[in-house]
Amino acid sequence: MSTARTALETEEHQALRAAVAALGKRYGRDYMTTVIREGKHTDELWAEAAKLGYLGVNLPEEYGGGGGGMAELSIVLEELGAAGSPLLMMIVSPAICGTVIARFGTEEQKRTWLPGLADGSLTMAFGITEPDAGSNSHRITTTARRDGDDWVLTGRKVFVSGVDIADATLIVGRTEDARSGRLKPCLFIVPREAPGFGRNQIDMELHAPEKQFELVLDDVRLPANALVGDEDAGLLQLFAGLNPERIMTAAFGIGMGRFALSRAVEYARTRQVWKEPIGSHQAIAHPLATAHIDLELSRLMMQKAARLYDEGDDIGAGEAANMAKYAAGEACVKAVDQAVHTLGGNGLTREYGLASLITASRVARIAPVSREMILNYVSHQSLGLPKSY
Ligand SMILES: Cc1cc2nc3c(=O)[nH]c(=O)nc-3n(C[C@H](O)[C@H](O)[C@H](O)COP(=O)(O)OP(=O)(O)OC[C@H]3O[C@@H](n4cnc5c(N)ncnc54)[C@H](O)[C@@H]3O)c2cc1C
Repeated sequence: MSTARTALETEEHQALRAAVAALGKRYGRDYMTTVIREGKHTDELWAEAAKLGYLGVNLPEEYGGGGGGMAELSIVLEELGAAGSPLLMMIVSPAICGTVIARFGTEEQKRTWLPGLADGSLTMAFGITEPDAGSNSHRITTTARRDGDDWVLTGRKVFVSGVDIADATLIVGRTEDARSGRLKPCLFIVPREAPGFGRNQIDMELHAPEKQFELVLDDVRLPANALVGDEDAGLLQLFAGLNPERIMTAAFGIGMGRFALSRAVEYARTRQVWKEPIGSHQAIAHPLATAHIDLELSRLMMQKAARLYDEGDDIGAGEAANMAKYAAGEACVKAVDQAVHTLGGNGLTREYGLASLITASRVARIAPVSREMILNYVSHQSLGLPKSY
């Protein structure tokens, strides 16, 4: 099967792809399966990827990063995923939190967090989703109240990934003055052990080392310097982090889709129940070819989104990042579905390890913004159609 090389990428990008693919191959699915079975985390891969400069490749050089952007970071996640060992926390730690701090943080926040996010010694989670808001972030009610120089946060979050392993969580709230109406978000760094910051693991049907948590913020007192950026800067600051999140979720989906597809192709080439391998039957070959095309197309859109974002076009990147996330989510779900089907009964065995991807692939369709919300965005923003909600 052809590699992910593409004319849109520089020689450096292609070298990065090859190097990350080699690292991924050394870990691969077996490593991931063992980590999950033993209830551990991907510490070894995280540390090695960080040491090689891959986790902080998008962060500014003066704070220990690689000086690149989303183009490079998305390559890293896609290639690790294609090897069967994606690092979900890359979507939140360097991509959302690292970007927001690098763009809007104070000098002190940059010095405190960025070198650690880049060398892997610090990790951050990101919490925006709330039980009663869900896709409608304008409805979030986590509220920040000023008390002297401090901030006091109250609220609830759900489905926040990796809070147990993250040193802090970047929490999206709103100030008391902007308690209702259109969201004017403000972002706070909440240390894992801050008094009043409670977490309960959600029992997910997901076969992954990263866990999801419900969070309770019960009068969490934070110093003034916990606020990242300007309390009045609003959505711009938030989307500085959400567009990278969408680009990275696209990379996650493309990587997983490629992994599943490669397993299916290998199987279709060798499994023989009639006189030729099953891959010679077009009913098997064509859906695999379609899956390959869809993954390649999604990558093109992901590259476009990354390039626009890295060039500073936040508006253009917003549309492209949504489309890339949509395309990659759909391509991932279809590739995994077809891969499982290609293996027949073996598609559902533990040994072949594809069945658990059926649930995992759905994450790329639901989070961080669902398929329907992207279709809403494109129909309103790109096509100018009226809104129904
Ligand atoms: C594995 C996993 C990890 C996650 N990690 C994080 C994290 O780290 N941090 C974080 O903050 N969140 C995280 N999330 C949450 C995720 O972003 C949300 O699940 C997602 O935004 C959807 O919100 P919801 O689950 O409340 O669904 P809802 O908003 O309740 O939507 C339910 C369904 O209704 C549809 N729907 C809703 N409104 C409309 C509409 N107007 N038009 C058409 N259809 C509509 C949706 O598309 C969806 O299919 C994670 C979720 C998962 C599954």
